[in-house]
Amino acid sequence: MAYIVPELTDYSAQSLLKAFADAKLAFRDEMRAITSEQEWKAFRDRWMARKNGLVTQINDQLKAAPKEAKRELGQHLNGLKQFIEKETNDWHEFVEGGTRDLSVHFQSVDITLPGIRRPIGAEHPVIKTLNEIVSIFRKLGYSVREGPVIETDYYNFEALNFPPDHPARDTQDTLFIAGQESKPLRERLLLRTHTSPVQIRTMENIKPPIRIVIPGKVHRNDPPDASHSPMFHQIEGLAVDTNITFGDLKGTLDHMAKELFGSGVKTQFRPSFFPFTEPSAEMYVSCFICGGSGMRGAEPCRPCKQTGWIEILGCGMVDPNVFEFVKDNGYDPKKVSGFAFGMGVDRMAILKYGVDDIQLFFNGDVRFLQQFG
Ligand SMILES: [Zn+2]
Repeated sequence: MAYIVPELTDYSAQSLLKAFADAKLAFRDEMRAITSEQEWKAFRDRWMARKNGLVTQINDQLKAAPKEAKRELGQHLNGLKQFIEKETNDWHEFVEGGTRDLSVHFQSVDITLPGIRRPIGAEHPVIKTLNEIVSIFRKLGYSVREGPVIETDYYNFEALNFPPDHPARDTQDTLFIAGQESKPLRERLLLRTHTSPVQIRTMENIKPPIRIVIPGKVHRNDPPDASHSPMFHQIEGLAVDTNITFGDLKGTLDHMAKELFGSGVKTQFRPSFFPFTEPSAEMYVSCFICGGSGMRGAEPCRPCKQTGWIEILGCGMVDPNVFEFVKDNGYDPKKVSGFAFGMGVDRMAILKYGVDDIQLFFNGDVRFLQQFG
């Protein structure tokens, strides 16, 4: 039944409260029943017309009210006006998504018009590369482990065979958390400079044999330029068992390179140094851009610097000193051996997609990122 303004005879507080609550409810119910622009106009006139609209009628009651009720009645009336204004605004926004043109909403639906296309997101090229690498190892039976990005000095350095005064700590350009000076060195917090702490954390919790890959963000105090970023991504791997040899390392990583860059690539291992592996090596793949010739037609091949080889990761046999830190959990260096490797995912993505500036990955420019979608 359509709302009509009641003739008030009782001006008590309770009666006024009920009368105005009824008016608000009626307004809201009627508004929610509107289904066309025509109905909207009729509704608006019925309630808001200056001459004899329902709000005007209610306003007229004010004049007939006894003096002592006028103040309270006036407050209720203001409340009603505010309510109507707010409801109307909300309704406009609900109906038109912010536009004020009601005709857009109420025009008849043309089912031959194309629908609204919503842009679909895509994996970021770095994450895509990271997932590809992880999936290669999952197929080999590796499981994925993750760990904290904010680490202690102990897990980031000490347990990985970097003693407090080891020169390798300087080369890491570590970002330390401020205000840690009162703590012992090994408890001080920092942004992990590599994903290696997760190797120790895993060996503390899981007895050998293990085969794990560790993807994640790492930070170093490098000013951003075409090949450096203070934040980048790593994937490390660790395999520990009895009788793991350097041959297992070579076979595993050679397989990964062929899966990632194509079955035609060759791999090469060159001696290197890392504190947590002994012996250590850098793995190179034959340049998949120039096919190993060092030239692209008459032009020199830039990614391999004309050498025909590209360095893609560091690796080695786990140093027995590292096992000493987790010896109690079954990692007796006399009984088990293992290999570890680590690579920069961003660098792999740069090589894979032929990108010449790492900053492009992190600037958030959709025009660049769309190319990988
Ligand atoms: Zn090349």
